[in-house]
Order: sequence, then structure tokens, then C-alpha cells
Amino acid sequence: MVEINENFLELQDSYLFSTIAKKIDEFTKNNPDKEIIRLGIGDVTKPIVPACVDALVKASKEIGTSEGFKGYGPEQGYDFLRKAIVKNDYNSRGINISENEIFVSDGAKCDCGNIVDIFANNNKVAITDPVYPVYLDTNVMSGRSGRYNEETQTYNNIIYLPLSADNDFKPELPKEKVDMIYLCFPNNPTGTVLDKSELKKWVNYAKENKSIILFDSAYEAFITDDDIPHSIYEIEGAKDVAIEFRSYSKTAGFTGLRCAYTVVPNSVYGYTSEGKKISLNKLWNRRTTTKFNGVSYVIQRAAEATYSKEGKKQIDESISFYLENAKIIKEGLIEAGYTVYGGDNSPYIWLKVPNNMTSWDFFDILLKEANVVGTPGSGFGPHGEGYFRLTAFGTREKTIEAIKRIKNI
Ligand code: PLP
Repeated sequence: MVEINENFLELQDSYLFSTIAKKIDEFTKNNPDKEIIRLGIGDVTKPIVPACVDALVKASKEIGTSEGFKGYGPEQGYDFLRKAIVKNDYNSRGINISENEIFVSDGAKCDCGNIVDIFANNNKVAITDPVYPVYLDTNVMSGRSGRYNEETQTYNNIIYLPLSADNDFKPELPKEKVDMIYLCFPNNPTGTVLDKSELKKWVNYAKENKSIILFDSAYEAFITDDDIPHSIYEIEGAKDVAIEFRSYSKTAGFTGLRCAYTVVPNSVYGYTSEGKKISLNKLWNRRTTTKFNGVSYVIQRAAEATYSKEGKKQIDESISFYLENAKIIKEGLIEAGYTVYGGDNSPYIWLKVPNNMTSWDFFDILLKEANVVGTPGSGFGPHGEGYFRLTAFGTREKTIEAIKRIKNI
């Protein structure tokens, strides 16, 4: 008899996107003449920029020649891309990272999820709430969460770090000792950021407690304020306590192409149960070479092109476009009397639902009265209740129209 990993039975079904789809279906059936605008999507809409397309075409032709053919590549990524990452994403900000600390992958989602492989199951995990669900669910699957409590909608062994207007969306240091800390800034779903002094607190905490910070900076390209760090390694001492996840998905529209990378510094360590120091870079390298065969050559060439002069310029234009959408949404909502967060250094706008309505009540009103779809905050965790997420990934025309309609509710 084959036994299953019963941790999977502890996972809670997420009805968020299926419920949204069902509600849209029903509304469309009853109101076939109404045009719905979707500002709930977390996917980009602008095409891959020409510099990356050119690189894809060139690399594709290259592998069709005997001299240029590529079979299996290095599991950790080709040198040309690791070099470009070090130079452009780190050295340019005064951060000293070496190429063997970079692991190129097919997505930050996989990396954030797979990283749990190298940590013991008795580690105490802290996550922000609301949260990108991957951090929580992958710890449930691997048996670190404990049982789910229906009443509180939380897992017994997970330490939740609330993000709300009450703490200005800045997570407070946990009262008890935690080992693995997930931080994502600019944050999905709240769109809020942490400045250097706030991040420094976490780095100090991790040092004092021999914890690891798992820092997801998938949205760093949207940062425009000078005092907001793009990388956790801008904080002194972070190279001893943090692993960083980056992605080309939102930066360069690679959600379909798939390319990302993880930085595991040579100076981050974990411990055996006897307290012996072990290099996390070595463990992650071993895991990567065992379970992964690398990102395709053509995709890595496209990722490299994001750092070319034209690539940077074209990507800047796309990001500016989304940020302008975010500004339109944010300013429009403020004019309409809403309390709004995020949206300045992020494609996400997080609004406080008016009149003590629930997030789902507001979803229904927005759909019925403005024919606009967003994402209920409660779908991202219990502290998301009473909030609502809109995204800046729509077209300009639809974004403007959506805000016009919301103003008229
Ligand atoms: N991290 C966060 C916070 C995200 O919101 C997303 C995607 O929405 C990802 C990671 C996934 O990135 P990738 O497309 O590289 O898997």
C-alpha cells in the first residue's frame, strides 16, 4: 500500500480565483450587454520588449547550427547571465556578490517553494499576513505548519506577522524566536514597501537568532523612491542572513517565457541539530544539480538582453507605463474618497473597503455597480479582510474607464 504525504491533506483549498471566476460568469450570463474590466489580474499584459525578442531569435538561430548547438547547460545558469546579473543588479548598487552565489531558474515561485527542501522540519516559520500564498502552502506540504484552525483561519505552528494600516504595513518583530522569515517587498498583495531602517531591524533580528530571511524582491523593478532598497543586500550584514529571490516575470514580462534567479551568498549558514555550521550555498547547489537541469539557453539569452542598453530603456518604458496606471488608480480612488495604500513603488493598489463591508461584499458591489473586477483582500489571509487589491497591469484605456466607473458608484 502506497502511503501519501498527509501534510497535503492539511492544505486549505483556495477558492479565491475560482469564486471570482464563478461570480464573473454568473454576472455575464445575467448581464450580457455589460463590459467587465478586470483589474484583479496579477499577470503582465505588455509584450516582450524588442531587445529580448531579438535575443530570442538570434539564440534560436544559433542553436540550429552545428557550432552553436547547445545541449544541457549548467544547472546553475550560463556564465554570461550570472555575470550580467552580478554586474547590473548588484555591483551597480555597490553590492559585492559573486557569480557562484547566483542560481538561475525558471521562476521565483518554484524557488520560493523549493527552498524549503534545505531546511529542517522543526524550524519555526514566520510569514506576513496577508501574503503571497506560496510561502505558506509549501511549508504546509513539507510539514512545518501544524494543524489548521478553522476559527482563526491560521496554522498552529506558523507565526503570522500582520500587515495592516494599524502598523503602517510594517511587520513587527516576533515576540518568540523564529527560524525562517519570509519577507516580500514591494509587497504582494499590499503594494507597500520597507525602507532601509525597517529592513535593518530584520537583519539584526536574524543575526541575533541565527535565523534566515527569505527575501522575495520579485517587484523591485517598480521601486522609484531612492530610500527604498531594491535588494536586501543593500543592508549591512544581510549577506550573512538572507537568501534573495528575483524574477524577470514582472520586470520584463517573462511570466510566460519563465526566468528568475535566487541569490544564496557563500556567507549564509544553517546548522545541524548538533549546532555544526553548514553552507546553505552548498546545500542549494546540491539540490539544484540533483533536481534541476537549467533554464533553456534561448531564454537565458533573452534574460541577458534585459541588461543591454536598449533592453533597459524598453523595460523602463513598460514599468513606467504600469506605474502611471497605478498612479491613475491611486489618485482616482483618493478623489473618490477611498483610503488607499501601495501603488507608488508597486503595481498593486491596496484599498480599505468602505463602511466596514467585508472584502467579498465590496467585490460584489464593484462587479454589480461598476462592472469592475478586483481581488478581495481576505483571499490573501485573515488580515487581508476589509481590504481589496487592484492591479496596474491593465491597458491605459480600461484603467481610466474603470476608475471613472468606480467614482460613479
Ligand atoms: N513572488 C511574488 C511575490 C509574486 O507575486 C509572484 C507572481 O505573482 C512570484 C513570486 C512568481 O514569480 P515567477 O513568475 O518568477 O514564478
